[in-house]
Amino acid sequence: MSSDPLAPPPASPGPERPGLLEGRRGLLFVVSAPSGTGKTTVVERVVQQVPDLAMSRSYTSRPARPGETDGIDYNFITRARFEEMIAADAFLESADVFGNLYGTSAEDAERDLAAGRDLVLVIDVQGARLVRQRCATVGVFVLPPSFEVLERRLRGRSADSEADMQRRLQTARDEVAAFVEYDYVVVNDEIEACVDRIRAIVLAERARLGSARYAAESIVTTFDKS
Ligand code: 5GP
Repeated sequence: MSSDPLAPPPASPGPERPGLLEGRRGLLFVVSAPSGTGKTTVVERVVQQVPDLAMSRSYTSRPARPGETDGIDYNFITRARFEEMIAADAFLESADVFGNLYGTSAEDAERDLAAGRDLVLVIDVQGARLVRQRCATVGVFVLPPSFEVLERRLRGRSADSEADMQRRLQTARDEVAAFVEYDYVVVNDEIEACVDRIRAIVLAERARLGSARYAAESIVTTFDKS
């Protein structure tokens, strides 16, 4: 039987090549944007496309909107229960947004991060500041293309009163100034382009030395054996 000297060697049953995510703690991504920017839709698509990346499910005291499901869109709880959880220090961060309480469970987040899975929190600017004080994060701020576009999107999707609309727009004006507190800024001009940009950020952060070191070291040790 003649063998082709240029053929690759047969696969040996050696140890599995470690993936980039092996042996490391998950990365915590924090995505903020003014209401109406489309951040939730964009992040939902990113987590569908990137393995080992989950979107955190927040707790909120606001009532579910039509079409929203408890345990899927949010964990909907009463304000009293929310306050009990604050008293028990159960939140990594929490904030009052438009009169309702929102928070990220510390236990839920820790479960993912300890298992080496990356997690995305889609939270407001106040919550992002609190998380940043407590742990290492990769912050991504999503901007709409302009104020006019944001106003058009908000008016198109909501049945809010004019007073509520003005409050949302004023909050947006205040929030956009916080973009400088984040590591990355992306514009949601076109949804698929915005998804691609955030996916690129996740993949780049995974390849940083601090994150990929353990996996790289296990590959490098295989070079000692030959
Ligand atoms: P909505 O009620 O429209 O779903 O969300 C209102 C705002 O609350 C959005 O800006 C959203 O990002 C923010 N939010 C959702 N969950 C959390 C959370 O767990 N913590 C904080 N700080 N903000 C949140």
